[in-house]
Amino acid sequence: MLAEHTRFFAYPYQIDQAEMAIFGVPFDCTTSNKPGTRFAPARMRLESINLETYSPDQNLDLADLKVADLGDLICPFGNARKVLDLVYQQTEYILEQNKMPIMIGGEHLLTLGAVEVMNEKYSDLQLVQLDAHTDLRDEYLGEKLSHATVIKHCYNLLGTDRIHAYGIRSGMREEFEFAEQNLNFNPFDLKGMSKLKDKLQNKPVYVTLDLDVLDPAFFPGTGTPEPGGVTFKELLSELFTLQDLNIVGFDLVELCPEVDPSGISTAAACKVLREMLLIAGKSKNII
Ligand code: MN
Ligand code: MN
Repeated sequence: MLAEHTRFFAYPYQIDQAEMAIFGVPFDCTTSNKPGTRFAPARMRLESINLETYSPDQNLDLADLKVADLGDLICPFGNARKVLDLVYQQTEYILEQNKMPIMIGGEHLLTLGAVEVMNEKYSDLQLVQLDAHTDLRDEYLGEKLSHATVIKHCYNLLGTDRIHAYGIRSGMREEFEFAEQNLNFNPFDLKGMSKLKDKLQNKPVYVTLDLDVLDPAFFPGTGTPEPGGVTFKELLSELFTLQDLNIVGFDLVELCPEVDPSGISTAAACKVLREMLLIAGKSKNII
């Protein structure tokens, strides 16, 4: 018997056998501070093998959920639009198979490719953003495609009141003002996430989880650390409220494993992934 280090949680399933499909996107070319999120999918696969499949918090087990790992996209460096198109195509392929798409970044810009196709499939798509940063710039250093502009692009697709942002504590004054006016904007912490159940009823929800929403004390492994964030326990307890929503896909982005040699951040990201898979499975009544 051989050890399996090449798939998340050593999941053996092909896409036609699975209920959900994960893919990695090792791309970080618009990262504004320390790059390195391109290494996150591979490092998370390795670390995920060390995590128990059972979640004591939810009393659920990944072994009861069938997830396919489709591997990583091959990303042409320096061509953000091309990579977004690849994300779009991969997400579209997974949706065509009637599976839930799950993307592991990579940098936050990648979310745009997934939201573009999700928005075409689901006419009333709702975006839940957990993040330290607004990501609402129109451009950054002259570039429209950046991890600092991704949520503005999503806004341009979705329109007012369809983005629900939590944990944000950094951005320009203009971004905060824009967010207050056009988003369901909940800065600084995750309080109020439990209200989404009543607010969104059964509307389709895509969750984008920029892991830098966590305080750097719990998650130092990210390129743009922002003190004043939530604890790991606070994040988990609020994420659990999402199981009452109609989750149609999610992503985890901005883990930069190389800047945290302790590995705590990669372990945290894997645990968030395990819990999110179970939350999404619960949301779909498949676990
Ligand atoms: Mn972000
Ligand atoms: Mn961020």
